[in-house]
Amino acid sequence: MHASPFPILGLSGGIAAGKSFVAGKLAARGWAVVDADGLAREAVLPGSEGLTALVAAFGPGCLRPDGALDRAWLAAHVFSDDAARARLNAILHPRIEALLAGRLAGLPADTRGAVLDAALWVERGKAHHFDAFWTVDAPEVLRLQRLQARDGITREAALARLRAQATPPERALHADLVIPNDGRDLTGILAGAEVALLANWKVRRARTWRTPMPAPFSADQLRDVLATLLSRGGDYGEAFVERRRAHALGMDDGRMEDVLASETFGASLRLVDGETTRFADLIAPTFEELTEAARTLAAPGTGGAAGVPALLLKTHPTPSPVERDPGRVALSEKVALVRRAEALARTEAEALRPGALKQVSVGYGDSTQRVWIAAAESRNGAWSGTLTEDHRTQVVLRANVTAGDGTQLQTGYQALGETRGFELFTDEAVAHTVREAARLAVQALDAQPAPAGTFPVVLSSSAGGTMIHEACGHGLEADLALAGMSAFAGKLGQKVAAEGVTIIDDGTLPHKRGSQAIDDEGNPVSRVVLIENGVLKAYLQSRKTSRKMNAEPTGNGRRESYRHLPIPRMRNTFLAAGSEAPEAILRDLDRGLLVKRMGGGQVDTVTGNFVFQVTEGYWVENGEPKYPVKNATLSGCGPEVLKGLTRIGTDLHHFDIGTCGKDGQGVPVSDALPTILCPALVVGGTAEPLPSVI
Ligand SMILES: [Zn+2]
Repeated sequence: MHASPFPILGLSGGIAAGKSFVAGKLAARGWAVVDADGLAREAVLPGSEGLTALVAAFGPGCLRPDGALDRAWLAAHVFSDDAARARLNAILHPRIEALLAGRLAGLPADTRGAVLDAALWVERGKAHHFDAFWTVDAPEVLRLQRLQARDGITREAALARLRAQATPPERALHADLVIPNDGRDLTGILAGAEVALLANWKVRRARTWRTPMPAPFSADQLRDVLATLLSRGGDYGEAFVERRRAHALGMDDGRMEDVLASETFGASLRLVDGETTRFADLIAPTFEELTEAARTLAAPGTGGAAGVPALLLKTHPTPSPVERDPGRVALSEKVALVRRAEALARTEAEALRPGALKQVSVGYGDSTQRVWIAAAESRNGAWSGTLTEDHRTQVVLRANVTAGDGTQLQTGYQALGETRGFELFTDEAVAHTVREAARLAVQALDAQPAPAGTFPVVLSSSAGGTMIHEACGHGLEADLALAGMSAFAGKLGQKVAAEGVTIIDDGTLPHKRGSQAIDDEGNPVSRVVLIENGVLKAYLQSRKTSRKMNAEPTGNGRRESYRHLPIPRMRNTFLAAGSEAPEAILRDLDRGLLVKRMGGGQVDTVTGNFVFQVTEGYWVENGEPKYPVKNATLSGCGPEVLKGLTRIGTDLHHFDIGTCGKDGQGVPVSDALPTILCPALVVGGTAEPLPSVI
């Protein structure tokens, strides 16, 4: 796909949003439209080699009497069986990709561009594979009307089909362009977007599908290391090689206190033999040293030598293309950024309340990590080998403002960070970050003690998804579930949350802090639906846990660095958007708390019990925020909150960033939720307790 001489546009959209209508418009502008969903049907037409393979795998029961594929039978058989679904995908996907490649290769080289039209690019975790990704959206009421008229179904049936897809706000997070197909003339929108796409697709493609990086070890050397590692038995051998360059600056009260730069090169080897794992990590090893470490790890084994095949580098597209590699940005420019942010924070705080500013701290950090992962694995006696690489870029700017009024000090904190290059720090983004920190600090001076008691709480989408991450997400990591250390252990297929509650972890979201091309075991990242409409669907898997659970790896095997073993970790975790206007949710809050920012907290992942600080909250009466509150805490139980969620907003857009700690390893993550109503949370405050309303 990334070798085509013309741009490739991914096109998707909600059911009955008018995707085919837009595809038709593009066809009229000279684009070649490929119906990618149609290719999936074509791959298993009667008489096709694909259908023969399916019959061999699933038996003649998967055929209808007329010899065509019985899709309903197949769907029923793979629905709750991960292994069967993996078998199906292993048959279908390569054939669909071959058909697609054939279709693209058959187009003339001077084709204006190809539109790959499919309903589920986001759901399949492929929205970042294209030179641009556009989605078509239309108001829900219009979509329901169209769907009912088109397919002759009830409103409820139409709504159920809408709910089975990614929501429009989620699709928009992936899209370069959202086309509003609400009856307006789209000519101008399409023409403008087409001009931009035709002008920059080559640059974008080169950033998305990087050319292979100069590697510390060749593919042949890594194969030799794996062969040595597996020379005396084992089921799985792996070499993880990492180069990392990082910078950090810290400014306090106008003084540059910290300027740190680091350069790391290391590698580790992992040998899995049944239940046993052997592991070694080496700083800046030579090929000979790596081989020697492999020999040492292999020595205790008593088995035969593995037939490790030759390794061929396979690259995966990144969801986070980078314009300006921060590793190549001069230190002076980073210093200038921090100074600019610091000065602006002072100006902002002074403008908000003269004389209140007490202290400003600004921190900057960047990290560019390059990894190469070579692995050999035995399945059913046959050895396969993989070699992958990834180039990961993180930048972050943090602002802390402290304000005082003679009797108290209050702090405001705001961070800006993505998997992006130095281009993230536009004047607008930097100004917004420091302005928020200053506003929070100064506003907190006027806050009143929060009432204490059990109240309904509206969590605004600006609060971020800390609660989803902490109180639910960790319990959905397969290692904790396997160890019985999770409220969700053993509950696959069971109702664990209210109807309408869908929780997703997605490593393919463009530029989000937990996004990467591959995980730290070489598996492509994916979009994992953990809870769908209240039902537990999946856990986050590493290679090891997926084997134990007879599931597929989900691309969530992560490690802090080459010195650590990979374990299942979250990436970008969020509660899917619902259908309510956020204002309507707040309007119905008679008496309770509106939370706009969450701070740190504590959580017991076994029970999901949590306590979080509220860093921006308002006491609400009759749907109106009355006054800001200070020193409030929220406590409750994550799984119980999920069961009680009845009102979920449409406004999913803000992702909070953080570094998640687990087993002594920190990895970058982000999380989000739309505005929600929690009917009863315990609010800890310092004011006199009010009679609880629940
Ligand atoms: Zn965490």
